[in-house]
Amino acid sequence: MDFDIFAFEKSVKNRLKKQYDTDLHADNHDVYDAAAAAVLDVIMENWKKTRLAHQKDKVRHIYYFSAEFLMGRALSNNLINLRIKDQAVNALEKMGFNYNTIEEQEPDAGLGNGGLGRLAACFLDSLATLNYPAVGYGIRYRYGMFEQRIENGFQVEYPDNWLKNRDPWEIRRSDLAVEVLFGGSVSVRHEADGRDYFSLENAERVTATPYDTPIVGYDTKTVNTLRLWEASSPEGFDLQLFNDMHYKRAVEKQNSAEDISRVLYPNDNGPSGKALRLKQQYFFCSASLQDMIRSYTAVYGQDFSKFADLHVIQLNDTHPVVAIPELMRLLMDEHRLEWDEAWAVVTKTFAYTNHTILAEALEKWPIDIFQGLLPRVYQIVEEINRRFLSDLRTRFPDDYDKQNRMSIIRNGMIYMAWLAIHASFSVNGVAALHSEILRTQELKDWAHLYPEKFNNKTNGVTQRRWLLSANPRLASFITKYAGSGWETDLSVLKNLETYIDDTAVLKELLEIKQQNKEDLAAWLKATQNEFLDPESIFDVHIKRLHEYKRQLLNVLHIIYLYNRILDDEDFNPPARTFIFGAKAASGYRRAKAIIKLINAVAVKINTDKRVRGKIRVVFVENYRVSAAEKIFPAADVSEQISTAGKEASGTGNMKFMLNGALTLGTLDGANIEIVEEVHEQNAFIFGLKADEILAMEKAQSYNPRAYIDRNAGLAKALQQLTDGTFGDARPFFQELYDSLVYGVDGQRPDVYYVLADFDAYCRAQESVAAAYTDREGWAKKTLLNIARCAKFSSDRTIEDYVRDIWKLKKIKID
Ligand SMILES: *Cc1c(COP(=O)(O)O)cnc(C)c1O
Repeated sequence: MDFDIFAFEKSVKNRLKKQYDTDLHADNHDVYDAAAAAVLDVIMENWKKTRLAHQKDKVRHIYYFSAEFLMGRALSNNLINLRIKDQAVNALEKMGFNYNTIEEQEPDAGLGNGGLGRLAACFLDSLATLNYPAVGYGIRYRYGMFEQRIENGFQVEYPDNWLKNRDPWEIRRSDLAVEVLFGGSVSVRHEADGRDYFSLENAERVTATPYDTPIVGYDTKTVNTLRLWEASSPEGFDLQLFNDMHYKRAVEKQNSAEDISRVLYPNDNGPSGKALRLKQQYFFCSASLQDMIRSYTAVYGQDFSKFADLHVIQLNDTHPVVAIPELMRLLMDEHRLEWDEAWAVVTKTFAYTNHTILAEALEKWPIDIFQGLLPRVYQIVEEINRRFLSDLRTRFPDDYDKQNRMSIIRNGMIYMAWLAIHASFSVNGVAALHSEILRTQELKDWAHLYPEKFNNKTNGVTQRRWLLSANPRLASFITKYAGSGWETDLSVLKNLETYIDDTAVLKELLEIKQQNKEDLAAWLKATQNEFLDPESIFDVHIKRLHEYKRQLLNVLHIIYLYNRILDDEDFNPPARTFIFGAKAASGYRRAKAIIKLINAVAVKINTDKRVRGKIRVVFVENYRVSAAEKIFPAADVSEQISTAGKEASGTGNMKFMLNGALTLGTLDGANIEIVEEVHEQNAFIFGLKADEILAMEKAQSYNPRAYIDRNAGLAKALQQLTDGTFGDARPFFQELYDSLVYGVDGQRPDVYYVLADFDAYCRAQESVAAAYTDREGWAKKTLLNIARCAKFSSDRTIEDYVRDIWKLKKIKID
């Protein structure tokens, strides 16, 4: 990158002068805004070049449809991918600004819940870096993932007003706005060509306006686009009503339209069931498809025979599946294709990624909600299902059970996953075990019907953000010993293995971890007034709060360990700091009770002088991408303790590995593939396996009581949930206790096998403590984890998608 540092400096100064009428005394946010704008200037030329190259060659694109993009901050990432970070930092510091302070001014773009949204962001980074033509399509939520504060130990949610100041990275494209219709009634007109044409009457009209954000590839000129849609009313507010002083009614229509892109639903792996959520989904799918069709017809007119050659749409979970009937509608009603022609296009265009097998997360919509909002689209879904069932009856004439199970519309509900599988040419899971469970259990009928569609694509993470940017010390260490080039080829890291017996190198590695731990301690001191001892083991459990992720198992062990240290003077394990970070969905009561429990246990333990210097519990408030970037580099132990078979993949596990933390985990999701790479002696694996859990589920043989009776330490920890040991939130903890021991609301007890795995988890924690005491042995394991993580780069994942599903060509921008 030929970067003109003087021009950059001048650009920042000029902006401060012009925009803010202030120069070097600008406040920090002004400086951030001016710096970001100056960086966007640098990006602009290549962005345009990329757009032209992709148009000119009429190349096949991947369109990544996702309701969530968890992007995090862009300033450092863009500077790093442009390879001008050091120079830009120097220029800013020379002008008297502190880069860290400037960087912290940027709000964290949190337009996603967790793993699924962050995966979309890592994929965009890899696609641009690998020079593939790609567009991300989604929603420009006015408010992203809520801001979490802990008040009196409870989670309290505040709106995430991330657009309070302008976003310097986005460009509003009002020239490309489209209209999306809701409600109304379907009208039919018979035309001279003998066909019926359908349209909507009296529908609510909503304007969709795209905002483009550049996606800068690393060390390449490719700059792809993330295009997010904003909803507004085409009519604005009602001046008549306003003049008559009906102020509330005057803005009703406007508000109703703007509500669509107002806020991200904070559900991860769970249902929302709200009509507004379906409106969001249809809104961005329809707008994106109209956008694609407009560009296509500008070149090819109404001949859609090349559409599927030039477009592949990846559906990130079922959230965008309504795009399938919507593309049918657009092709038939707006572009006059016959059903069979349209269906041929659709079934060659869509590919679907499944992200979970949790029953509560499988999206289904009540017919009345769906039909009320999208009457014409509903007719098309019915017709898709009618044709499908008729085929199914021919193939399995006697199997009424199967016909019923597989029907896309059933019991008053529309099953979005069924629609996705039937219409897509590819269906993938996100780790080997997950894809296997889909094939052999959850989607068995479908895998039998369409075996050629099913495949696996193990998730990955981008090493640009999660190593190069987040952990500069480790990044330099790797370049020094493994050599350069790992930024775009993570397999270079295997060169580190040659240093496995080099005590000086191992010592250096431990020192880097130590410094990162000191940084994290300083940050938590400054932001939360928490005290962390960097000499202790940093045992880290950061991810969404969900019962299947079993934060409760971690807490029960902490209580057990606390009791043991108090009871036994001779028990002297190495000092540990247990670090948690997790948001709970607003309506998920039990998850919120677990957050309260973690905080109550923290208060009890952290104020007990008898265990000072031995254990400490820290809850990091408002876990998000920018917090994650500070925590992963400082972790010694990676908690990946989901109930086997329930975590589809996980990507946090990969970020930990890349940063040299050792996995303490079950054989679940991508943990299995991590252990395949590092081998069991370099991780801490425990607990029931997926097939064992399945067998217990089938036999209904699980009895948690038996595990409590056999383990006095467990019995005591459980009893302390209910006896007031952890303060004044007893009703919440009693509910947790009941759910484990008796089962509540008609559920079986301990649905996620916490108590069944408790003993194995305690023993695995003992192995961790013993291994950590052998510092050189630990350093060796750390080195091997880093050296063997090549598979978990999202670059590898993207190349797998390209080879098996997307069939893209790399386009080099000169
Ligand atoms: C990586 C990431 C996740 C996903 O973590 P898992 O442990 O895989 O569930 C969630 N949130 C943020 C902010 C992340 O960076």
